[in-house]
Amino acid sequence: MSDIIQLLPDSVANQIAAGEVIQRPASVVKELVENAIDAGATQIKINLKDAGRTLIQISDNGCGMSDTDARMAFERHATSKIKSANDLFAIRTMGFRGEALASIAAIADVELHTKQHDQEIGTFIHISGSKVQKQEATACANGTNFLVKNLFFNVPARRKFLKSNSTELKHIINEIQRIALANPEICFSLIHNQQPIYELGQDNIRKRVVALFGKNINQNLIPVETDTSLIKIKGYIGQPKHARKTFGEQFFFVNGRYMKHPFFHRAVMQAYEKILPPETIPSYFLYFEVDPGNIDINIHPTKTEVKFESESAIWQMIQASVREALGKFNVVPSIDFDQAGSIEIPMPKRDHSEIQPPSIKIDPTYNPFETEKKYSGGGSSYQPQEKSQVEHWEKLYQDFEKETEILQPKQEENLEIEHSDQFSGKTFIQFKSKYILSPVKSGLMVIDQKRAHERILFENFMAVLASSEVASQQQLFPHTFELGADDAELLRSMLEDLKSLGFDIRDFGNNSFIINGTPGMLDSSSPLEIIESLLEDMKSTASNLKEKAKEKVAASLARASAISYGSSLKPEEINQLIDQLFACTEPNFSPSGKQVLTIMPIEQFEKLLR
Ligand code: ADP
Ligand code: MG
Repeated sequence: MSDIIQLLPDSVANQIAAGEVIQRPASVVKELVENAIDAGATQIKINLKDAGRTLIQISDNGCGMSDTDARMAFERHATSKIKSANDLFAIRTMGFRGEALASIAAIADVELHTKQHDQEIGTFIHISGSKVQKQEATACANGTNFLVKNLFFNVPARRKFLKSNSTELKHIINEIQRIALANPEICFSLIHNQQPIYELGQDNIRKRVVALFGKNINQNLIPVETDTSLIKIKGYIGQPKHARKTFGEQFFFVNGRYMKHPFFHRAVMQAYEKILPPETIPSYFLYFEVDPGNIDINIHPTKTEVKFESESAIWQMIQASVREALGKFNVVPSIDFDQAGSIEIPMPKRDHSEIQPPSIKIDPTYNPFETEKKYSGGGSSYQPQEKSQVEHWEKLYQDFEKETEILQPKQEENLEIEHSDQFSGKTFIQFKSKYILSPVKSGLMVIDQKRAHERILFENFMAVLASSEVASQQQLFPHTFELGADDAELLRSMLEDLKSLGFDIRDFGNNSFIINGTPGMLDSSSPLEIIESLLEDMKSTASNLKEKAKEKVAASLARASAISYGSSLKPEEINQLIDQLFACTEPNFSPSGKQVLTIMPIEQFEKLLR
């Protein structure tokens, strides 16, 4: 029998390798941008068409390549970054495997223009499916310019597996955020279908965080700084009130490289223990410097997981540094900070069980939008303005509490209500997921839950408009969406007003838009739903010319984002809703003038039961 084992042709081997390194357009962006950084670029431009499907262009002003290097760069295991196995233990560059360009060239159409600064003339190479189509001398700018076209043209299964453009774009933006945060001194521009998404100048860390996540985060940042022989930690953490229900602003970097580290994440979470709103995750942007010999970044092909020596000791230091920072900003009043600067470090233990980090409970069916809407009547920034309404309302209950005591539901949850419980002792019953009933002195008060929430949101929006302090929450994954021509026109006409309410929506042309930020007081996970119902509401309510445009947008937005009928509310949510309603200046009427509440007089019951 003849031999059957053969060596795979390079093009096939490269395609297989590509499967590991290049999963989607975002992987190409990551690899090419990292190469540009390794090349010493101070300016990197990323230009995309169709979320990278059609074109990914990355140009840099880095060192460029000689004509031989330009050709060599596409060979597998071709790298200028390490020469021997020993170098693997002192990696300071982003790349080192020499796989990326070979992989990309195996599954796309790649054009490269590159020129070294001291050369007169540059090199052009065109490679498609691992085959060099053309190489020639060319006049071009200093640095390197890659054009990657028709990604996965020869791997139909992969191409089919790509998600919608908006999803792929989110992945790209995600990569850019990580790289841009790791390299605040490098200027980046990101353009998608000719619309700028980011224009980042030379920044420090704080400015870069703000440039990426919005001005609103600025006053919420608390600096962290710790310097020990084992690790240096610096960066920022977010105030507890800035914590969100969804992930998005959690970043660790080690030696200038983004990393995922669930174990260290728990150290941060534990530092925040008991001071976070329920089920929220604080923001953090933490930069670690360690001896490169003490970490192993080679355990994962896409290199976001990093293994540390002395993991337990570092865990303790992260936890202590974050606590210390929170304490300095009076967020954790009860800590003794005498140790500041000389944190006691226990001997590193092999066994993590000693530390007992809190376990994170994740409920995959949990929809933060649903609950947040119920809670978000005011959001954390909301301050009751009008005490008199509350006092007025309190009178409804005078001498009444004792009589209703028997009705108090004995619920464990009551113990957990953090909220200043000014109406505790009163009974609220949700009826038909639509009304809230409460016995008062003169009868039975009936509150329409949706109208009540509309009123609360409306007054909040009006307060935002008046203060001109926009509380916008930047979206980690900006939502892109397309509208019909008339809806697009309607939305365009409201963009300015929406902006003053905290919506950061950009017109992309062709009736498509991108939502980069949403009002801080609204849940930000389904902004599209809100925009859609807002447009519906704007269309269906007769336009009253006397009504100021801003007020109309605020009212429509309140209607569009208020809890709907049919949402059942937890006792603490009902309490919060009631508190906030009676802190409104006009609790009796919804923004469109409908009655929010009524009291059925006791006489009426007596008549009915005569
Ligand atoms: P790695 O980054 O792991 O070395 P790559 O396949 O990504 O492997 O790149 C191969 C080589 O091509 C790099 O080591 C570098 O010498 C060269 N190279 C790639 N991109 C650039 C660039 N933008 N500027 C200069 N040289 C580059
Ligand atoms: Mg590389």
